[in-house]
Amino acid sequence: MYDAIVAGLGPAGSAAAYFLAKAGLKVLGVDKETFPRYKSCGGCISTKIDGLFDFDISPAIEETVYGASFTYKSERPLDIISERPIGYNVMRNTFDHLLLASAREAGAEVVEGARVVSVEDSGASVKVGLHGARSCEARVLVGADGASGLIGRELFGLRPREAAVSITAEVPHKRELRDYSGRLFIDFGCVPHGYAWVFPKREFLSVGIAASASKAGRIREHFNAFASSHAVLKGLKTGPTTGWTVPVYYDGAPSPVKGRVVLVGDTGHLVEPFLGEGIYYAAFTAKAASSVILDYIGGKAGLEAYPERLEAEVLPGFRSALKLSDLVYNYPRLWYGIIERDPQIMLRYYDVIRGVEECSAFYSWALDKVKSKPWKVLRSWIETRFARPERAG
Ligand SMILES: Cc1cc2nc3c(=O)[nH]c(=O)nc-3n(C[C@H](O)[C@H](O)[C@H](O)COP(=O)(O)OP(=O)(O)OC[C@H]3O[C@@H](n4cnc5c(N)ncnc54)[C@H](O)[C@@H]3O)c2cc1C
Repeated sequence: MYDAIVAGLGPAGSAAAYFLAKAGLKVLGVDKETFPRYKSCGGCISTKIDGLFDFDISPAIEETVYGASFTYKSERPLDIISERPIGYNVMRNTFDHLLLASAREAGAEVVEGARVVSVEDSGASVKVGLHGARSCEARVLVGADGASGLIGRELFGLRPREAAVSITAEVPHKRELRDYSGRLFIDFGCVPHGYAWVFPKREFLSVGIAASASKAGRIREHFNAFASSHAVLKGLKTGPTTGWTVPVYYDGAPSPVKGRVVLVGDTGHLVEPFLGEGIYYAAFTAKAASSVILDYIGGKAGLEAYPERLEAEVLPGFRSALKLSDLVYNYPRLWYGIIERDPQIMLRYYDVIRGVEECSAFYSWALDKVKSKPWKVLRSWIETRFARPERAG
């Protein structure tokens, strides 16, 4: 009998295994893959991650990011670079492997290549069935098996259709051959209700596009159009692509606790819905859940303290980000025109990314800016409704 089983060992699962094992619990972590494993991801982590772990994550950081070069449909380039960092670019195989190694060092028992196939909560304990007729049992199960995982879907009824869809490619390039000066490349307007990006790493450019699953239309065509038109990708072959879902937070998502099972990261749809930032929130929610599980095992609190913490510390920001994404992605051309005229807006948004400005305060301020242009909003709305999908905005 373990104190906790952690199913899935991406950033959420490895962080949970780390914090629980470090606090002295008997922890088993399982993942269907063998690490290091590839994960389709932009791999940009906001600086909010600073100080979340008490070990050094810098060996996995390939680029420090100070801002972005924005475009609208691959044109009208606009550099908005800050003096202070907003994020770090990592390759997920290296970053996730580093977190997993830390969980192991902290004392978690880890089994790779072990797929969870069933979960049974008897009330007194949770029994987890693994592929190959093996099983294990714990007082608590941490569900961290990701966007398409079985635990969120089957046990909690979380709906993958509320997710965003994405296409990504890793384009080989040598860091020393180009100077990207610590910036991301972000394009608005290239896809309905979403955006495209190029995130530079040492050996690769991570290229991707993501948009609301219900509104994206033919996302592969949008990806191809972006990859063939963006200046940074000129002369480069995008190569093989992968498709994935980004389980962004949605209104009405069920509680991430049921009986003795607790959901963290993507499994609980705990991804910020404006940019689709999920790595930091995977680690953050895992840390929050771990401290609640410690209290629970110690008889000091119930597991329902976890959703209460999320409600206090995370979800208000996600709800504002949802409103912001409606505003920006419904009116991308208007939005782009506004940031072109007033780049301070993005500099202020960088503080939301850094975690020093509330998203709700930023949203109210940005909404006032948009409201001050009612005729442009109306024109943009008419175009969005009546134009072909690729002309949205
Ligand atoms: C295209 C794309 C780009 C993105 N870009 C960014 C970005 O730039 N920045 C950012 O912050 N976020 C980004 N995200 C979101 C980010 O990738 C996720 O939020 C993050 O990976 C969540 O971590 P996690 O540990 O919850 O899930 P995951 O990283 O998905 O880990 C889940 C783990 O569970 C394992 N697993 C699955 N099923 C089972 C099973 N049945 N049994 C055992 N193990 C199982 C998997 O092998 C995997 O290792 C992006 C997402 C996508 C799709």
